[in-house]
Amino acid sequence: VSILLIGDLTRSEYESWRERLSACLPASEKLFASDEDYERDDIDIALVANPPAGSLSQLPNLRFIQSLWAGVDRLLSDPTLPTDVPVSRLVDPNLTQAMVECVVAHVLFLHRQIPQYLGQQSSAEWKQWTQPLAMQRRVGMLGLGQLGGAAAQALSRLGFDVVGWSAAPRTVKGIRTLHSAERLNSVLRDTEILVNLLPLTPQTTGILRKELFHVLPRGASIINLARGEHLVEEDLIDALATGHISHAILDVFRTEPLPPQHPFWSHPRVSVFPHVAAATDPDSATQLAANNIAAFRAGRTPVFLVDRRKGY
Ligand code: NAP
Repeated sequence: VSILLIGDLTRSEYESWRERLSACLPASEKLFASDEDYERDDIDIALVANPPAGSLSQLPNLRFIQSLWAGVDRLLSDPTLPTDVPVSRLVDPNLTQAMVECVVAHVLFLHRQIPQYLGQQSSAEWKQWTQPLAMQRRVGMLGLGQLGGAAAQALSRLGFDVVGWSAAPRTVKGIRTLHSAERLNSVLRDTEILVNLLPLTPQTTGILRKELFHVLPRGASIINLARGEHLVEEDLIDALATGHISHAILDVFRTEPLPPQHPFWSHPRVSVFPHVAAATDPDSATQLAANNIAAFRAGRTPVFLVDRRKGY
């Protein structure tokens, strides 16, 4: 039995993952990169980083799939992905910490009205705006999972008035929580800064659209750190034009890299980031993947299994 490392990786990325993995896996484990010669029948574990669609169904003895990325939407969108093989996603405290820092930075940027002051500087305009305190600022958090839950708690510790939204009931220390599609509007109604950390599923695709923007109070801002497909781009451009949405911070896009001619690049009220909110830390990810492989080999249930029915 052998492990296959497969993804949209360059040769040097394969090499660097292999080096780290070899240091963490027992010497008895045979590891192949997908651009090397291997016997398909020998592979029982796939370590994946956005593998090409159709590739995993070619492995007849595959028993376990470990993702090296936190989001598994692209992996699960492969219609040929074997339905009976368990999939674990990456849940890494280092990645969570990176996302928490990113959310706090962007929320404070909007809360402290930095976009307005940067705009004023470009025309040498000295104008002071009333500055509310964090406790007077309502932040809405869509998704209360590993990332959204931790980010919501960090914002609450800074004093923000945070309301969070999930599919099932969740308790997160310091924040008010609501769940289910029926309660979404209650989350949005008073939210001045909306953060999206939902997984991409059929239910959440296009959730950041006209209808949602209209429930937010006039002048609200949005921060999308989850997936580009959550956002209906044309609806955001319209909502920015009317002033209903005052600013958008976008880290993820339908097409990545964002094409140079895309209107977001030059929009004065859009801040573009090149998918950098929270990158996989190869050192910790390798160790976590190796631990999960060891659990699988020992006959234990791997941690952070994806619920294939829910899609995350
Ligand atoms: P997670 O632990 O699976 O949490 C997902 C949360 O969303 C859960 O609270 C879940 O509700 C909620 N949810 C899912 N579907 C819902 C629905 N239809 N209605 C209401 N709530 C719903 O995911 P995570 O680890 O926090 O990651 C979230 C996403 O962040 C990933 O899927 C990925 O797309 C993105 N991400 C982005 C970057 C970046 O660099 N930009 C990095 C890593 C991850 P329940 O609690 O009830 O299940």
